[in-house]
Amino acid sequence: MELYELGVKEAQEGLAAGDFTAEDLVKAVIARKNAADGEVGAYLTFDEEHALELARLNPRSVPIAIKDLINVRGQPCTCASKILKGYVSPYDATVIAKLKAAGFIPAGRVNMDEFAMGSSTENSGLGVTRNPYDLTRVPGGSSGGSAAAVGGNLCIAALGTDTGGSIRQPASFCNCVGIKPSYGRVSRFGVTAFASSLDQVGPMTKSVEDAAILMKALAGHDEHDGTTPREEVPDYVKALEDASMKGVKIGIAKEYSNVTGLDPEVKRITDEAVKACENAGAEIVEVSLPHTEYAMAVYYIIAPAEASANLARFDGVRFGHRSEKAVDVFSLYCKSRAEGFGAEVKRRIIMGTYVLSSGYYDAYYSRAQKVRTLIKRDFDAVFQKVDALLTPCAPTPAFSFGEKQDPLTMYLNDLYTIPSSLAGVCASSVPAGFTADSKLPVGVQFVCGGFEEAKLFKISKAFEDISPVKAARAF
Ligand code: GLN
Repeated sequence: MELYELGVKEAQEGLAAGDFTAEDLVKAVIARKNAADGEVGAYLTFDEEHALELARLNPRSVPIAIKDLINVRGQPCTCASKILKGYVSPYDATVIAKLKAAGFIPAGRVNMDEFAMGSSTENSGLGVTRNPYDLTRVPGGSSGGSAAAVGGNLCIAALGTDTGGSIRQPASFCNCVGIKPSYGRVSRFGVTAFASSLDQVGPMTKSVEDAAILMKALAGHDEHDGTTPREEVPDYVKALEDASMKGVKIGIAKEYSNVTGLDPEVKRITDEAVKACENAGAEIVEVSLPHTEYAMAVYYIIAPAEASANLARFDGVRFGHRSEKAVDVFSLYCKSRAEGFGAEVKRRIIMGTYVLSSGYYDAYYSRAQKVRTLIKRDFDAVFQKVDALLTPCAPTPAFSFGEKQDPLTMYLNDLYTIPSSLAGVCASSVPAGFTADSKLPVGVQFVCGGFEEAKLFKISKAFEDISPVKAARAF
């Protein structure tokens, strides 16, 4: 087995046994990137000297690919946007500091949809990323570079972020494990904000155990992020020891089963996953999430509203691109933003500004907040009855470039991931099978209650053990 093929656990074992050093690992990843990333395009930049230097400082560390919106001191942080081209981070995000403290090093920056807005990575302003399982298809998004890097064996593991599905959907498209932690479980200090009431950082890996190892390093209180409670971080790795489906109550939401646009192969693979859980001793319970139908509408009010406020800081004065055509301060703002942001980001800023504007705030934003509460209550009620929900991760497998031209069709790809994001609970994507005709990977989603990651890991691992596929290796 080549070093770049290793997962986190295997890499840690090899380092501990003295079979190789962190420098060997980083060199192997770099060589692999140089040989194979030309056609995939997972990486935006890779400061080889920086990664090798960190590896020499900690010879037992494991390199992790970082989504290009998480700040690493001295490295670019573009959010895949022209507006941040040339920007260099002055500090480490808390997740990076925590990773370093736990024996990991940031190595390479991976592509994404601009400011994490999208489901295919086609909205990147800086490059194209292809699905390593089928280069004519998208890797998903917005953490498409992270998923392509893990699925294509171009890294050991990666960090992504998830606001409405951006870890889980690309993980499903590229045969990786992805974890969206509960809101507040992981610090967002130093992570460029998209929608602050939804954003979370999480691991994208080759196995559930790898994800648990990384989550153990990432989770916990941070004095720089007021949304992270002082709640103890359970030992997620230890929790896997007695992973089993026996007696686990798995909920199937009746509102999710007859969604229009659900691909028959995704349905088959999800149904087979349910059967496999049942055969392994789980109890399958039908449940209801009655406000599901409003989730998309609510998300596409709240997320753009928050984005419009968060992106106001990119004004050509403090960060990144500054228009050369400006004649006064107002045109400096307008032209820098017009030139720097891509079409989807502009669409969100305009939508968000509209729903927050006086006269419309009550009709849209504040009503959306009320419906969000109802959606959250649906989940609270369901988790009184079951341990976890099992759903498709996305309604389709990876689609072709340009296939979803109109924004609404693209938005609908997040149908299954958005409700749990609005509820603030935790969820995973675990590889579950391949489509019969085109052999594309498909993952299923498990959802557990807020701060129930230990349970989520257990159930995800129990499923991984009985799933027809192990996570990931495209080529
Ligand atoms: N695809 C969704 C969007 O475009 C979710 C993105 C995300 O989770 N960052 O908003």
